[in-house]
Amino acid sequence: MQWHWRRSITTVCMERVNTLLRNVELPQPWSMNSFIDRLEAYRGRQIDLYPFTWTPDLGSTGAWERYDDHDVIAYAANTTAAHQDYNILHEVGHMISSHGRQCVLASAEALTLAPTLGATAFGHLMTTVSFTRAEKEADMIATLLLARIARGDTGGLDHRMEALR
Ligand SMILES: [Zn+2]
Repeated sequence: MQWHWRRSITTVCMERVNTLLRNVELPQPWSMNSFIDRLEAYRGRQIDLYPFTWTPDLGSTGAWERYDDHDVIAYAANTTAAHQDYNILHEVGHMISSHGRQCVLASAEALTLAPTLGATAFGHLMTTVSFTRAEKEADMIATLLLARIARGDTGGLDHRMEALR
């Protein structure tokens, strides 16, 4: 049976983010590793973060694969911390939306949206226009979560940079 109307992506995603944040507290100061730990406890499933070195021929900057007993999120390590967070949270968006079992941020889209994967990649990713509904939802959830993280006065998103010092 079809709904007579389709709720907006924003409404649907805000509900999912609110439900998530009622159960998984955002770490302060912000730490992706701590957040993933809490998300694992909430979902009762292990999540493995897999950093990889992005190259132009590789295209994709992030991916999610659901296995029977755990999830794997692969993310490009050679980009800004904010862009890494965005890519990981995009995949988390798929998880909490019960989307299919796999996402690979498409090569063409990644190259179009983030041609250099430099400091401007984050902004470019905010202008996504051509994704499917599921991809739009994952992007929206990542954006909403990053806004909540930023409002938490966590001292910025450069935790990985600090770790390298
Ligand atoms: Zn996706």
